[in-house]
Amino acid sequence: MDNSFPILVIEDDPSSRKLLEKALLSAGYKVFIAHNGRNGLEILDKHFFQIVITDWEMPEMNGLEVCRAIRNRDYEWYVYLVILTVKDSKNEIVTGLEAGADDYIIKPFHRAELLARLEIIKRYLSMERSLRQANKQIRILAISDSLTGIYNRGYLTERLPQEINRAKRYNHSLSLVLCDIDHFKMINDSHGHQTGDRVLKEFFDCLRCAVRNGVDWIVRYGGEEFLIVLPETDAKGAFQAAERLRKLISERDFCVENKRIHITASFGVSSLDPLGYKDVCLPESLIDQADKHLYKAKQRGRNRVEGYSHEEESINS
Ligand code: GH3
Ligand code: MG
Ligand code: MG
Ligand code: MG
Repeated sequence: MDNSFPILVIEDDPSSRKLLEKALLSAGYKVFIAHNGRNGLEILDKHFFQIVITDWEMPEMNGLEVCRAIRNRDYEWYVYLVILTVKDSKNEIVTGLEAGADDYIIKPFHRAELLARLEIIKRYLSMERSLRQANKQIRILAISDSLTGIYNRGYLTERLPQEINRAKRYNHSLSLVLCDIDHFKMINDSHGHQTGDRVLKEFFDCLRCAVRNGVDWIVRYGGEEFLIVLPETDAKGAFQAAERLRKLISERDFCVENKRIHITASFGVSSLDPLGYKDVCLPESLIDQADKHLYKAKQRGRNRVEGYSHEEESINS
């Protein structure tokens, strides 16, 4: 029996309540009871139910008001509303449905019919769950890179402006480190493209383990280029972090298919300075700055970091 959808019953009349509760319990449902509309909403706000069966006439707050209130609330999941009432005219049925009910059942209810309708409701709600699961999967695919599983540029375009706004609002610094593997073409040429792919994955794992978990985030910016976003980190801190990564990579070998492969990488740093960004700062110009510094690192011999000079340090201090 599927008990994953407990039911909230809102009913003021004790004998109707007993009858309904008995029918639902005998079919294996978990049942929670409220004695009037207001009480029902309080319980719903606290515990949340996806199936609500409500009477119409009740003291304090009637079933129509319950339906309208629920439809005006912003619950994360859909609430399937059923009105169960003696009111049986076509006008009343229309009024009930227009108030937001999904279904309308007339008392005295027919047990088998009620349970059959609940089966339909459960199918709808299960469909909602599968749809959400699928949307979650689609979202993950849309923002990740298929080779490494890390964030892709689409995610960067979405998240970097938010990160910049946040830094500005709280007067925090923010830095980017763009890194590019040196002479990676040679790795492909000497060991094959598949080995190159494995090296890329290991390279990313190495970066991921060396940055702050849950704070810094990494994007695959291009083929063998990765962009690391370092919130609350100034230019000096980002330079030091990049230097640490550079050293880590240059001092180790990557073991792929029993081959030990040595690589180095070059890094370009750019930063938002909390004192200096009263002016507009676009995500593109911050990335562009890191890219220029990366280019400089390549020009100056590779396996190095560019983007923060010690002259700046003496000016700032
Ligand atoms: P540089 O030091 O100037 O960066 O030299 P490089 O060889 O790394 O740079 P270049 O831009 O000339 O070549 C990048 C290479 O990265 C060429 C391309 O085949 C390789 N590459 C890009 N994406 C992938 C990938 O997904 N898998 C593999 N195996 N190689 C890739
Ligand atoms: Mg009543
Ligand atoms: Mg390269
Ligand atoms: Mg490159």
